[in-house]
Amino acid sequence: MYHSRDSSGSLITILILVGVLLLLSLIQGCSSSTAYNNGICPYCGGAYQFKETVGHRYSTHYIYVCNKCGNLIESSTYFNPPGKNN
Ligand SMILES: [Zn+2]
Repeated sequence: MYHSRDSSGSLITILILVGVLLLLSLIQGCSSSTAYNNGICPYCGGAYQFKETVGHRYSTHYIYVCNKCGNLIESSTYFNPPGKNN
């Protein structure tokens, strides 16, 4: 009887897959919104300016450049430029 051995093996595979997916979603969630930092550059305190839209195969990304030090970030979320909200 090898049925029990097979089922435990697939259970471990599923657990590993779930773990990897959770890890990937955590990494992606962190990188998108914290990089923009509400439009303030964490290195010099300058303001991020919208530069261009980059189309990837499955998604669209937005490039922002700091107007003081030129630090470049790529975000999967479009942010309204600061000062244009009101
Ligand atoms: Zn900067």
